[in-house]
Amino acid sequence: MRHLLTGTVAAHGMALGRARLVQPSRYTVDTRPLAEEEIEVELQRLHQALDTARQELRELRGKLHGALAREVNEFIDAHSLLLDDAELLRGLDDLVKVGHYRPGAALKKQRDRLSAVFEAMDDPYLRSRKEDVEQVINRVISALQRQTSPEERKLAARVGEILIADNIAPGDMAQLAGNGLLGVVASSGSAYSHSAILARSLGLPMLVGTRDALSNIHDDDLILLDAERGEAVVHPTAQDLSRYRAWQREAAIEGRRLAKLANAPTRTRDGVDIGLLANAETSIDVAMARARGADGVGLYRTEFLFLKHKGLPSEDEQFIAYRDLVMGMGGLPVTIRTLDLGADKADAAGLSLRGEDNPALGVRGVRLSLRYPAVFTTQIRAILRAACYGPVRVLVPMVTQPDELIAVRTLFKLARQDLKRENIDLPEKLPLGAMIEVPAAAINVRALLEYADFLAIGTNDLAQYVLAADRGNDALENIYNPLQPALLRLLSHVISAGRRAKKPVSLCGEIAGDVNFTALLLMLGLCEFSMHPGQILQVRDRLATLDHAELRRHAARLLRVHTHEQAEALLNDVVNASEALNQCAGRERPVA
Ligand code: PEP
Ligand code: MG
Repeated sequence: MRHLLTGTVAAHGMALGRARLVQPSRYTVDTRPLAEEEIEVELQRLHQALDTARQELRELRGKLHGALAREVNEFIDAHSLLLDDAELLRGLDDLVKVGHYRPGAALKKQRDRLSAVFEAMDDPYLRSRKEDVEQVINRVISALQRQTSPEERKLAARVGEILIADNIAPGDMAQLAGNGLLGVVASSGSAYSHSAILARSLGLPMLVGTRDALSNIHDDDLILLDAERGEAVVHPTAQDLSRYRAWQREAAIEGRRLAKLANAPTRTRDGVDIGLLANAETSIDVAMARARGADGVGLYRTEFLFLKHKGLPSEDEQFIAYRDLVMGMGGLPVTIRTLDLGADKADAAGLSLRGEDNPALGVRGVRLSLRYPAVFTTQIRAILRAACYGPVRVLVPMVTQPDELIAVRTLFKLARQDLKRENIDLPEKLPLGAMIEVPAAAINVRALLEYADFLAIGTNDLAQYVLAADRGNDALENIYNPLQPALLRLLSHVISAGRRAKKPVSLCGEIAGDVNFTALLLMLGLCEFSMHPGQILQVRDRLATLDHAELRRHAARLLRVHTHEQAEALLNDVVNASEALNQCAGRERPVA
């Protein structure tokens, strides 16, 4: 019989599939008190389960690559920290030792206790952190269960399933998405949660707060997940299915319309050519970049090669990775960024300094590379060798002042001399560029331009450093806003300085791939955008609707606003007026 459950849309879209229930909160726990002589053994079981959960998170981290890894790793780190939280661990030990709870019961007690504390908080953000605690403890409970049951209760979705769960950890979601999961219906949770953010970037429809989902849906029930309306329809009728088909048709038309843009030029409505580059780390990214007509790779983050690796990758391992990237792009320019370890990019290679009070302001990026010239030289040699296979540019992260670029150039020169002595082929020229992501570099950009052949603006970090707001902290959303006037003025300053010096300036932070900011970046004079290849067609489509000259006319006004709200209002006005003009002129979208 058809029935309908309603929830809050956390990620838009629709999906039809079989239900797969996960009920971590319902694991049966043995509530009989422990006998004195059992305590030691049970404590060991508890700690073994904690270790397993830590290990699982580490493994998960190792399996994720590219932009997704960056996003998910933040969540994994938060969960790993919780697993090492002294108070949480002490509380668990006490429950077993003093309260004579069995490990499963102790974990459940601790989970319920902490959930209640978070639930009572007024702040919706803090309330939503309750999910992290629950997800972490559920992972340990699950590990504990597996010690006794030979059957691994691993989350391993089969293709065509919709996950019905209390809530889901971001790491599990990333893994499931790779296994063909179609969507998620969560009975609790909020649209602020890490999982919801991730579902949006994975393109997985998701509902949260779908009360009673676990008691009203059964394994293998057919579910129509309508995360446009906020509904999960159990046993959908023919009418529901025809609505789904209509949605699918529209989505397919839109997909086909965009696909045609793969071979279209990237041009604004008034005919200004714009460069679209890809941020690419994997062979899948490279294939997608080419299929969507990227003009090259604007950012290859080499640190992922190091983070994936146990120990340091050798010169040959690096050379092969860079060479394959260069060859994969078939003659289009590739921008290889030197190592940017430190801060949020945890260091599996063991290079970053331990115990820094403030790692984001510490020895990261080029600062770290220059501290380890031998490690850096290995990377430089690999890049030089790979650059014989196609056009390569080298990008230096976290540059603050010119002497860092000078030092990098010197290391390149020395590496060239060594390679020449070894009779190894060398590229003729290798442009060296600076990431502009430290405020000092942005303000003093003219000095850097004397030593840099090109610039790439990293707004992810530039925004966090200009605004003193951690880029990974959801509680600072109101501050960490790309429309902050201080940031806009800096962007304009850097772009204009690059233009005056006749040196290319691209922007490779997340906003480059967000169509909500395309008009803004044109207004500021940007001509080269570098983004996740999945965004290229949407941005090309957007650019074709925008009038470059018209937008540039409003740049001065934009740079006079006092607040990000004013910047947003101005941007909306300008874009709406331009769209109205588009319609009056009866202009069609360039490729239909
Ligand atoms: C940036 O900071 O905007 C950037 C592209 O670099 P990353 O995100 O790798 O720090
Ligand atoms: Mg950065």
